[in-house]
Amino acid sequence: MIEKQKLLSGTKVAAAIRSEVADRVSALADQGVTPRLDVVLVGDDPASQVYVRSKAKTSAELGMRSETHLLPASTNQTEIEALIDGLNADDEVDGILVQLPLPSPISSAAILDRIDPAKDVDGFHPVNVGRLQQGRPQLVPCTPAGIMELLDREGIEVKGRRAVIVGRSDIVGKPMAMLLLHAHATVTLCHSRTVDLASVTREAEILIAAVGQRALIGTDHVSEGAVVVDVGMHRVTDRDVVEQLYPGNEKKMAAFEKNGAVLCGDVDTTRVAPIAGRITPVPGGVGPLTIAMLMSNTARAAEQRRGSPQ
Ligand code: NAP
Repeated sequence: MIEKQKLLSGTKVAAAIRSEVADRVSALADQGVTPRLDVVLVGDDPASQVYVRSKAKTSAELGMRSETHLLPASTNQTEIEALIDGLNADDEVDGILVQLPLPSPISSAAILDRIDPAKDVDGFHPVNVGRLQQGRPQLVPCTPAGIMELLDREGIEVKGRRAVIVGRSDIVGKPMAMLLLHAHATVTLCHSRTVDLASVTREAEILIAAVGQRALIGTDHVSEGAVVVDVGMHRVTDRDVVEQLYPGNEKKMAAFEKNGAVLCGDVDTTRVAPIAGRITPVPGGVGPLTIAMLMSNTARAAEQRRGSPQ
């Protein structure tokens, strides 16, 4: 359990962002514009299906339109590119999101490059990546953008502080580093070849864990008082592992009994929380922020494309 005063609630901040997006959507509606998000899902990966449904549901809740394009796993590169070309050309479409991963042998890079940068609500197109690097961002990847909102709205000073990110993916680690750098943190990016990871992460005043390894970040990795943001998301279905991660945590065990699984992150929260100054939970941390920022990006794309003030 995380003490209340230490908890960095993504759920709470995401609710505030969503409410602001709903206001922006309503301002657009006054001008006859309904933002529209088109999601492309290729294949039948169950986790991707859950994410896509959740994006469509949230869009509807905020007054936006959403279309989901479900394509069989046998769809080839040319067919997906033709769909993207059509969505690029359709003036009614404000945001295009291609759910990753795409089944092999499809080239994700070629598909993402094909999306009109003005509609690239995931912020993965090289134009948007370059703009972020140059410090003049337009559409920023949702997970790191959400983490910046969390830090800002929770009053966590970034300027001048030592930030360490574990993970250098294009989706999280690298854009996170750029955002923190532009916010004047001193940034270190770690990865699988980093030597003596714990000695580097212990220098962090702000530690972002985006490693994709269950509970890798333990007490050795965290200094007293550090702000810890856990991006990781892992479904744990093994009772022994749940008991090891959450000893004596009745709430987690009850969730496990009910669902046959619990979610955990890249941080060993039970043991790290007593050391950390502030810490995000899993679930209820970064996950809700990511989807809230997708909605914000879609509204922003509509505002920018259809000439409304921001
Ligand atoms: P990814 O593409 O797999 O990247 C993982 C990164 O961690 C890589 O840079 C890798 O290094 C590094 N790494 C792996 N093992 C390491 C180790 N032992 N020590 C140090 N670095 C190590 O993952 P991702 O897409 O960034 O996602 C990371 C996690 O966040 C996953 O659990 C994912 O499910 C979760 N996620 C959650 C959200 C959300 O909304 N909550 C959104 C996106 C991702 P190399 O580059 O050297 O291989």
